[in-house]
Amino acid sequence: MGNPALARYGSGDVSTPLPGHHLNSELELRALLDGAGLRPTAQRLGLTGLLFGGAHRHVTAGELHLEAAHRRLAVSVATVYNTLNQLVATGLLTQVQVEADCTYYDTNTEPHGHLFYTDTGELVDTPLPTIPRPLQLEGVELLSVDLLFRVRRRR
Ligand SMILES: [Zn+2]
Repeated sequence: MGNPALARYGSGDVSTPLPGHHLNSELELRALLDGAGLRPTAQRLGLTGLLFGGAHRHVTAGELHLEAAHRRLAVSVATVYNTLNQLVATGLLTQVQVEADCTYYDTNTEPHGHLFYTDTGELVDTPLPTIPRPLQLEGVELLSVDLLFRVRRRR
């Protein structure tokens, strides 16, 4: 099972429920979108159902588009991107930039760090260690801290 301090999200069988949103009814999803000031269109309801229906997860726009297609949800790549970015703008998702051309969307908006496995492309949550504060914080407002460890399993 590996390091219990690491919460592995988005995996299949787990004996204990993982933290997440677990919003399974249309009513809950509508409330989520309403709270974010987004009109609950069929496409947004479908996409938020995929994102917030279970345990926390990391997903790319391409992965979400594929999942939507498998569920026969007719939605364009542009709509997937727009919806993801609106959810980021309203604070329901965070973005994790792992490569210049690879962005993950994270349903866990609590502060945490990430391990990115460069060999498999997995992104795994890890608790934030105590981070030394940068020296020049006078007169500025700290908005966020991104901590990404790029790792590879030993062979
Ligand atoms: Zn995460």
